[in-house]
Amino acid sequence: MNIRTQLTLRYIGIVLVVLLAMYFYLATMLKDSMSTRITSELEIQAALTREFLIEKLPATDNFTYDAIDPLVDKLGKTEKARVTFIDLEGVVWGDTERDGAALRAMDNHLKRPEVQDALQFGSGIRDRYSNTTQTEFRYYAMPIYKQTSQNSEGTLIGICRVALPMEAVNTAIGNLRRMVLLASVAGLILTIVFSVFSIKIITKPIEKLTQMTQSLAAGKIDTRVPVDSKNELGQLSRNFNLMADRMQEQIDQISEEHRRLETILTDMGEGVLLVNGAFEITYANPMAISMLSLPNVYVGKALIEINRIPELQTLLQAAEQTEAVAFAEIRLGNLTEPEAEVTVVPVATGEEYVIVIHDVSKERQLERIRADFVANVSHELRTPLTTIRGYAETLLSEDATRTKSQEQFVVKILNHAARLSRLVSELLELSRLESGDVELKRTLCHLNTFHAPILDVFEPLLEESELVLKWEIPESLPEFSVDQQLFMQVLVNLIDNAIKYTPDGGTITISAEIYTSEAFEESNITSEEMIVHVQDTGIGIPMESQPRVFERFYRVDKGRAREMGGTGLGLAIAKHIVLCHNGQIWLESSLGEGSVFHVAIPL
Ligand code: ADP
Repeated sequence: MNIRTQLTLRYIGIVLVVLLAMYFYLATMLKDSMSTRITSELEIQAALTREFLIEKLPATDNFTYDAIDPLVDKLGKTEKARVTFIDLEGVVWGDTERDGAALRAMDNHLKRPEVQDALQFGSGIRDRYSNTTQTEFRYYAMPIYKQTSQNSEGTLIGICRVALPMEAVNTAIGNLRRMVLLASVAGLILTIVFSVFSIKIITKPIEKLTQMTQSLAAGKIDTRVPVDSKNELGQLSRNFNLMADRMQEQIDQISEEHRRLETILTDMGEGVLLVNGAFEITYANPMAISMLSLPNVYVGKALIEINRIPELQTLLQAAEQTEAVAFAEIRLGNLTEPEAEVTVVPVATGEEYVIVIHDVSKERQLERIRADFVANVSHELRTPLTTIRGYAETLLSEDATRTKSQEQFVVKILNHAARLSRLVSELLELSRLESGDVELKRTLCHLNTFHAPILDVFEPLLEESELVLKWEIPESLPEFSVDQQLFMQVLVNLIDNAIKYTPDGGTITISAEIYTSEAFEESNITSEEMIVHVQDTGIGIPMESQPRVFERFYRVDKGRAREMGGTGLGLAIAKHIVLCHNGQIWLESSLGEGSVFHVAIPL
């Protein structure tokens, strides 16, 4: 039931109750007042009748119909009422309604209740249906006392009774009832018409508001209610419109942001994927769809089912376990090189994960091309360089006559050719290491096995520059597994640098230790590493250059390094060899005090 019907029914209900109450109240009021009026009228008439009869009635033993009935008829005519005279035996001697034989045939009236009341209490009043006249009457009876010379109080001689028909009262009440009923019906009709219209005025805005909220709920955000009043309803409508405006603004803003995000996600070069806690795909941008070759329907499907890349699953599990960002290079296609850098970011603690896939196949390809180019060029340079060196050496050794400057030129050619061929072989070595083709020939050995060969290489140099090499490696250290030739190269490169960049009279110290770290806390497994330190008392490396010295061709002081015969590849080669052993290399240095290079090889 809508509010309009509810209100209308309530209105009608209230009016109906009021009208009914009014109807009954008026009817009773009228009946009471008319009845009181009739009673007092009857009382007056009865009193008059009694006085009249006391005077005119003959003596008790002399009652005749002919003497009394005309008296009574006359009284009835003047009073416009039914008047009856009854003697103490109950015989009716006169009645306005009966004459002659009919009067004589009237039954005994002594037992009439009003007559009994009059005899007992001095007056009697009764509403009764009269059998004689077949109508309803109100009777008022009074005893008549006649004064005689012997009795001044008077002797009871009979009862006079005055009666008025109740018909008038009933008709008047009936009329009034009809009138009130008519008025009620008219009032009711008026009320219905009025309430329908006035309620319509009230409920119309409410209905409109309801409609608007319905269409708002259905998503029609541009609906507004017309504001046509200044009362509370108008205010409500205004507030609703304001609220809708605000919502519209916010939705517009969100849509705009959504559009922007959508554009970014659609056009970006990275693949972006959203998966839920069960690793089911909830979103994928076009790049991710093409990278992972997702089918048409992928939302809600488990990632592993669609794209069988176990590494991706492992990465997701890692992110789930650590609740932190996980990163890996993953091969998405069938190529041998890892093609993509994949980052998994947990959002909302384990409920969602963002997977960002960065395709690096092109970069890898470029790197390969560059490395191939360097390797090829180096290779091609090798033969001509050997020839140049050969001829220059021959020229020098020949016993020919030549000027001093000619000899200087040949020496210069020889030196530069030597430098070039060192550079070429180092480049080739670096390319070989970078290509990943190097197969490690690991053997178990003690660090001290490298002592003698190192001395062989560096003794002349050390003596020349008056440097001291301290070999402080205890025999108690365990053996470790390395490719001896490559590890020797690392040591040679580091010690060569230490000698080059330490002024005469300095010290170079080689030491080592075992480092134990608790890598896997839960399983009590510890990881052990052999850490070798190469320390010098040389010129040191400025802070800003420290992170870069392992880059190829990076030199702190280009002129000085060239003078020293450096190529700028020594540390890059050392780093690659260490990485091939799954190890790490890093340094500590302060300018003017010296540097320490640390090499860690897992045992
Ligand atoms: P280079 O062949 O020029 O020595 P490296 O790759 O071996 O090339 O070293 C790169 C640069 O790092 C060097 O040019 C030098 O400036 C700096 N460097 C390396 N080792 C040391 C050291 N022990 N003391 C000071 N500087 C060093």
